[in-house]
Amino acid sequence: MEKKCPDYISNLNDYLDGGVTPELCAEIEAHVGQCKNCQIMVDTLKQTVRLCREGRPEALSPALEAKLAGLLKQHWDKKFGKK
Ligand SMILES: [Zn+2]
Repeated sequence: MEKKCPDYISNLNDYLDGGVTPELCAEIEAHVGQCKNCQIMVDTLKQTVRLCREGRPEALSPALEAKLAGLLKQHWDKKFGKK
């Protein structure tokens, strides 16, 4: 069964935190390696996480998380078409 981008989204934070199994990690990396949208997502998350860690101790704010999710959804809706 092939997963689509949104299936990976919920795992990306855990992936960046190293909180996924080696199997899932490999799966995510394989997908991200050939998916531009998810590359952008991972890069954005990495930058955001780094900024948060360097600047402030708290995690992503809910507002920022919602903004990111909204941006990505727009991206995917455009690329894959709305259901
Ligand atoms: Zn993807």
